[in-house]
Amino acid sequence: MSYIPSALRRFVTQRAAGQCEYCRFPQTASFFAFEMEHIIAEKHGGLSIAENLALACTYCNRFKGTDLGSLDPDTKKLTPFYNPRLQQWSNHFRLDGAIITPLTPEGRVTVKILQFNLSERIIEREQLISSGE
Ligand SMILES: [Zn+2]
Repeated sequence: MSYIPSALRRFVTQRAAGQCEYCRFPQTASFFAFEMEHIIAEKHGGLSIAENLALACTYCNRFKGTDLGSLDPDTKKLTPFYNPRLQQWSNHFRLDGAIITPLTPEGRVTVKILQFNLSERIIEREQLISSGE
């Protein structure tokens, strides 16, 4: 992965308000430092510029990897992931208690491949909710 200057890292982190831009988990509640995620992976020609970077938790970044999308589980059509630079989170996902429910095809492939509702992630969200965050 390319070197990302610290000023750009700071900008991306502040723009995201310290939350993972995919699952919305707060950096302050995570044991691991969040990462600079290339929305379009470098392998596919994505650049290390603000417009192509998102703040991502280790789960989301690891599960997304260099993928750009997947087959929608409902329609089986090739569908891009939710893009935090171009789309609004609340149009594609809804928080139902500690479960993230997808609302669109982009939401469905993102929830599936980034494994938003893995049991340990649901438990972490439940703990956050019960602590008032
Ligand atoms: Zn995340």
